[in-house]
Amino acid sequence: MVRQNLMERDRVVIEGVNIVKKHIKRGRARQAGIVEVEAPLHVSNVRLICPSCSEPTRVGVRADADGKNQRYCKKCDEAIPRSAA
Ligand SMILES: [Zn+2]
Repeated sequence: MVRQNLMERDRVVIEGVNIVKKHIKRGRARQAGIVEVEAPLHVSNVRLICPSCSEPTRVGVRADADGKNQRYCKKCDEAIPRSAA
């Protein structure tokens, strides 16, 4: 589940992924201890679920017939539209 999509920084926050523990010292914070925080993850590290084969896959870039860059699934070789996550 993607919690936040921080487009401007190319980072996303994903539920249960990239949890960092922050140690809070008593003082300014109300409670001392360890707090778990979901840290933003760069989109290049997020696996895409391919719309064609429904597998988590790596994305490659190649030139299409018009010479434009096109993203494709390295598993099934299908082009991935821009609108896909
Ligand atoms: Zn695929």
